[in-house]
Amino acid sequence: MTVDERAEELASDLGVDKEEVKEDLENLVEYSVPIDEAVQSLRRKYGDGGGDSGSTLSKESIDEITTADGNVTVTARVLNVGKRSIRYQGSDQVIYEGVLADESGTIDYTAWQDFGLSPGDTITAGNAGVREWDGSPELNLGESTSVAFEEETLDVPYDVGGEADLVEIETGDRGVDAEVRVAEVERRTIDGRDGETEILSGVLADETAKLPFTDWDPHPEIEEGASVRVENTYVREYRGVPSINVSEFSTVESLSEPVAVSERGTRLSIGDAVEAGGVYDVETVGHVISIRDGSGLVQRCPECGRVIQKGQCRTHGEVDGEDDLRVKAILDDGTGTVTAVLGDELTEQVYGGDLEDARDQAREAMDQTVVADSIRERVVGREYRVRGHLSVDEYGANLDASSFDEVADEPADRAADLLSEVNV
Ligand SMILES: [Zn+2]
Repeated sequence: MTVDERAEELASDLGVDKEEVKEDLENLVEYSVPIDEAVQSLRRKYGDGGGDSGSTLSKESIDEITTADGNVTVTARVLNVGKRSIRYQGSDQVIYEGVLADESGTIDYTAWQDFGLSPGDTITAGNAGVREWDGSPELNLGESTSVAFEEETLDVPYDVGGEADLVEIETGDRGVDAEVRVAEVERRTIDGRDGETEILSGVLADETAKLPFTDWDPHPEIEEGASVRVENTYVREYRGVPSINVSEFSTVESLSEPVAVSERGTRLSIGDAVEAGGVYDVETVGHVISIRDGSGLVQRCPECGRVIQKGQCRTHGEVDGEDDLRVKAILDDGTGTVTAVLGDELTEQVYGGDLEDARDQAREAMDQTVVADSIRERVVGREYRVRGHLSVDEYGANLDASSFDEVADEPADRAADLLSEVNV
């Protein structure tokens, strides 16, 4: 559903003016508040508790909390506390968010005021609101919630604190701390909601992975090659992969010892990478099982760059397409499949010719699909090591390849594989 449709639905639910709701919703979304969270905020603003708010249930354990609950009272350990600011009802509001845990499980929370929570605290949250996020319950600690700090520490089978290696970080994480090397950084001016603002964006690295980041309040310690400790960051999805957000509430500290980084991509099986919901700079090995339609010699819309069919762009109608080369290869490693997308340069490599060669071949055959056929003959059934950014959307998993090398070209790896087979 679009923001417009969500606004319409919300306005009719709450019996308020749609334009007003829409403006609020757009504000929240613009400030990268996930749409479901934004809708819940507005339900609160316009006086709908967002569920059955009649009674408060005392919960023995976190795993008993369901999305059907209105309000609950629960005792739990605070695993981490992230602080950030969102625009709410037209003004900036600071929220605190993270994860609560007990022996039975964990639950995400958002505190709409400063209860003085610290990682490691054991609290009893009375009359905490339950809302649904992505099918799971989350807790809202607001005006009507009481927070009591318990003297006895609750033992939980989870790590306290937000310390993480980059490979562990997932979209939606809050209160994340990490020691990283700034692999790339650029200063950009964006048109923010308060006019032009400078931000930093780039790539952070450690020994386990690389991740893109944005610093919304440029910290001078973040410069190319610097090793830093960042604390209190939050993670949002950006182009299908997790991205670290550094804010005015984050701390950035220079480290005297350089953080080790890996020159390789994060090595994962296809199944694990897809399961993670998107991985930045992943390296995986699999066999090409087929080449998808839309490979070989293709035409792109000169306006938007998308591949077009029969001179028709889905957005721009009839256009004069521009020739290009690309491959969409389905890669399988036994744990899952992913579509590796090769740009013109990698396609030239696997095709063994350039755009001119492809045009010649198509002209001669009076059929441009012969180019894809040639590529198919060369790659299907062979094993490749692919590196690039893997993203997952409703249509499946795509790996935007930065390298695509046949594994047979690596004699050492081959020998190792052979040895392990012999040993079995
Ligand atoms: Zn177009």
